[in-house]
Amino acid sequence: MLKPDKQYITSILQKMVQINSTNPSLHPTGAGEAEVADYAQSLLADLGCAIQRFEPEPGRVSVVGSRLGSGGGNSLMLNAHLDTVDVEGMAEPFSGAIRDGKLFGRGSQDMKGAMAAQIGALKMVADAGLTLRGDIHIAGVADEEFASIGVQSILPHYQPDAVIVTEPSDLEISIAHKGFIWFEVKTTGRAYHGSRPDMGIDANMRMGRFLAKLDRLEQELAQRPPHRLLGPPSLHAATLTGGSAWSAYAAECTLGVERRTIPGETAEQAEQEIQQLIDELIAEDPEIKIEFKTILVNDWFEVDEGAPIVKSLKKATQSVLGETAPIIGQHFWTDAAYHSTAGSDTVLIGPTGHGLHSAEEWVDVDSVIHLAEILAQVMIDYCS
Ligand SMILES: [Zn+2]
Repeated sequence: MLKPDKQYITSILQKMVQINSTNPSLHPTGAGEAEVADYAQSLLADLGCAIQRFEPEPGRVSVVGSRLGSGGGNSLMLNAHLDTVDVEGMAEPFSGAIRDGKLFGRGSQDMKGAMAAQIGALKMVADAGLTLRGDIHIAGVADEEFASIGVQSILPHYQPDAVIVTEPSDLEISIAHKGFIWFEVKTTGRAYHGSRPDMGIDANMRMGRFLAKLDRLEQELAQRPPHRLLGPPSLHAATLTGGSAWSAYAAECTLGVERRTIPGETAEQAEQEIQQLIDELIAEDPEIKIEFKTILVNDWFEVDEGAPIVKSLKKATQSVLGETAPIIGQHFWTDAAYHSTAGSDTVLIGPTGHGLHSAEEWVDVDSVIHLAEILAQVMIDYCS
């Protein structure tokens, strides 16, 4: 039986939390990932890994440490992001202090705890002197909290059979999450003095007509057949701006719509639904000026519950936790979607904690140790 090195895992986690790696795209003073990536790289190199670094933009470093197999086995990548969200309002953003089994600080749960567990798991395999048949890649990537340039920079260089993304999941096994699409809808009117209804065209009022139709679409989405783990698809009118003065007709109104997709839906279908609303408005009023564009598409992901990596993970949770971890769907989006789209069987499991993106964040240290044990067992089972 492999033993996790608790002291090692806890101390590298502490050190990573103490290194500021705030995403600079989210906050202008953000330190970026370079320093924490250097640290992770040194740990992986000490464990005998072959190292590759990726830096698509200055200071935005991702690092992958590979323990190559003897050949013929399944290859596995473990993926954690190294960046964190902003630390504003936090009493102890970089303390790494441990109280009552909780380790405090920004990124402790999201997701340096998971990075420490990934490295700790590899150390268990290395300490035991095991040579597996398949390759193991430990990835620490930049920029998940903003535009995921990190995972996109590493993707072309690896084709693992399976990927485990170690985002927080309370040690439950997530086999799917939603995707999201951002649409921008714009109505154009004519600015004119408010006293002249004969000359002004009200862009805001025209957007109101669109919103009424969008409201009906939202209600219709809620009635669609739900995904068994994620529920039905949804949308919301996220941002709305239009008009410039009380006594003026609004020349322009812009609406930001976020559409959350579930497995099986395509971006084209979602675009088609918006286009249909616009077509209806134009049929009702051929003079109306309204258009939309797609700003961003991030895919959903899903893996078959019978996939070998999921079976392997179930077995490992049974052995470490004493019972098979529940199979769940995750609502929030992660880098898992990129790995899944690239063709790897992708699944998500991560530690327990509290306060993602809020003023007090902590991770349960025991759950980090358990995660390391689970990941080590998966490596041995899946890559042998
Ligand atoms: Zn995260």
